Amino acid sequence: MAEALRDRFGRSIDYLRISVIDTCNLRCVYCMPLRGLHFTPEAELLTAEEIERVGRAAVAVGFRRVRLTGGEPTLRPDLVDIVGRLSAIPGLQEVSMTTNAILLPRLAPALAAAGLRRINIHVDTLDPERLRRIMRFGTLSEIEAGIAAAEQSGLTPIKINCVVARGYNDGDVVDMARRTQEKPWHVRFIEMMPLGTGEAAKVALSRFVPTRDTRERIEAALGPLDELPRASLSDESRNFRLAGAPGVVGFISPVSEPYCGTCNRMRLTSDGRFHLCLLNDDELDVKKVLRQGGGQDEVAAVLARAVGLKPTGHRLEEGLSTEERQMFQIGG
Ligand code: SAM
Repeated sequence: MAEALRDRFGRSIDYLRISVIDTCNLRCVYCMPLRGLHFTPEAELLTAEEIERVGRAAVAVGFRRVRLTGGEPTLRPDLVDIVGRLSAIPGLQEVSMTTNAILLPRLAPALAAAGLRRINIHVDTLDPERLRRIMRFGTLSEIEAGIAAAEQSGLTPIKINCVVARGYNDGDVVDMARRTQEKPWHVRFIEMMPLGTGEAAKVALSRFVPTRDTRERIEAALGPLDELPRASLSDESRNFRLAGAPGVVGFISPVSEPYCGTCNRMRLTSDGRFHLCLLNDDELDVKKVLRQGGGQDEVAAVLARAVGLKPTGHRLEEGLSTEERQMFQIGG
């Protein structure tokens, strides 16, 4: 098995996040504007076969895990095929996915059968009205049905992603954390990142809530959070447990506690570019190589070059990032 590639800062890069589509069935206020959206035409999206070719090249240069994301990955009609192709690659230890769960009642059994191992589900509040305000399309009951379908299909442990936005859902974090006292879920509270310069980034900046405030609110209502050992150095979530709880409360703090130093990721956009860092516009085009008939060695060479160019460090705490791409175009 190949040794993972190291970048010029000595970081071992073995985790590929693959965005399979840039459209979404929700319009979260800090992620996607309601108007002025331009999505990648279908012919420009990587095909399932091209995604598999990148996956095989990635494993050949030491990548071990893949996460599918979007936009909303479940909107991709051939998602089960993509999962099956990736899961069949020898040496790939895990295929997981980030989703809003709305389409899971229909898809979860087939995804699990195709080899999907785990799932992160995005839900910002357990209050139906406030969910409508922050996530705009979709309903809480649809998301809850999706979570139940994921549990029934064994896509566990369920990890819930909750992005905290002042005036939208910061008052609901206690209810969300309380779920970990009832269920073995990992509920992770995420600090908003202001990507780009558009409407969503302005919301992310003006409604920012630091982890410290979220944690204080939870502890004031539910008691102390005991820190758990890190599952791995590259785990971006700091994890805690409420006394006696079966579940885990996590905090992902890219703004107040950046974790660039332990980043182990490379990202592939749905239109076929290696995106070197979530908070930096630098990309290398791999679709061109794929569409010119490039085989595993050529694709692996682009990936190795991308790892070599990976930057480190961001200045999010100083304001908007100058990133052109927005979150829904990269996949989180
Ligand atoms: N549609 C899927 C979903 O909602 O999970 C996958 C794509 S979404 C871009 C991936 C994750 O990014 C979501 O879980 C959401 O929590 C997170 N996210 C979106 N915009 C964000 C922002 N501005 N700051 C921090 N996290 C963000």
